[in-house]
Amino acid sequence: MVETNILVIEDSITLRREIIQTLQAHSLATCYHEAGDGLEGLKFLLEIKMDLVLCDVEMPRLDGFRFLTLVRAREELRDIPVLLLTGKDDIPSKVRGLEQGASDYITKPFDASELVARAKLHLKMKKLQDELRRANEILLDISNTDHLTGLYNRRYLMDVLEREFLRSSRKGSLLSFLIIDIDHFKEINDKFGHQEGDVVLTRAATAFRDQLRCYDTPIRFGGDEFVAVLPETSLPDAMTVAERVRKALDAITFSGKLEKMKITASLGLAVYPGEGVKTVEDLIREADNALYRAKARGRNCADGPLDPA
Ligand code: GH3
Ligand code: MG
Repeated sequence: MVETNILVIEDSITLRREIIQTLQAHSLATCYHEAGDGLEGLKFLLEIKMDLVLCDVEMPRLDGFRFLTLVRAREELRDIPVLLLTGKDDIPSKVRGLEQGASDYITKPFDASELVARAKLHLKMKKLQDELRRANEILLDISNTDHLTGLYNRRYLMDVLEREFLRSSRKGSLLSFLIIDIDHFKEINDKFGHQEGDVVLTRAATAFRDQLRCYDTPIRFGGDEFVAVLPETSLPDAMTVAERVRKALDAITFSGKLEKMKITASLGLAVYPGEGVKTVEDLIREADNALYRAKARGRNCADGPLDPA
């Protein structure tokens, strides 16, 4: 069962309990929490993921308006529905509360059926909003993932590189970039068919990913090409990673139709900041040039910048 948390912030213990009992009688949540003022309420919100908050306006220490302002200012709390408890004829408080981000208000003394109906409505809206956010996260994941290998795709690469470039410039750290291209991959497709070629790509992708640290980003660049973004990594360290990846690909063993088949790969490295590397495009181009040199040297090896600083 999914946990639903409701927080009631009200300085009158009698009213607080009355509200909770009413909500409990309709099984609106799995957990009910109570606080005597805004400050105590805020502490709860920072500790427990709430689905709904009912909050009095006039309270000691931190009143309902200041509570609302603090809640709406925080990214992680912004979407929690807050219902204000106001006096029946207190129109100014209702208007001010709504303007400051209250989702709705309930007048005191409250009518039980109205309280339950409004609480239900806002819980439902919160649930839909959470589902929508989750669906968007899944869509974003899908759009950043290469469907064959499960690695990130080229689209995501650009986001990572922009971000890491900024970080590198700000911190003055080195950013290395590695391109890997399987040697004579076309021959594998020609000899065993495209489907077996896909098996090879998937196995290579896994072996490659397993050689990286958790803050490195493994990406399928396209076809039989993979790249890795290696933050805070000097050229000698990146060369160690490249050699590790090369050996891991060389060590893959296959079964079935592909038994006895071996693969090798050529690798190219570039670093930012480095000779002729001032932009994301420079970094990709220089790594690609290094890869070309590795191919020209006879494949199954790694190459770096011609003139490392
Ligand atoms: P080189 O050593 O110079 O890299 O030679 P190569 O044969 O590997 O040449 P290249 O890297 O240019 O070839 C990549 C091939 O990968 C060409 C294309 O038919 C194949 N390919 C691209 N995408 C896929 C895919 O998703 N699945 C399979 N099976 N093959 C693919
Ligand atoms: Mg190739």
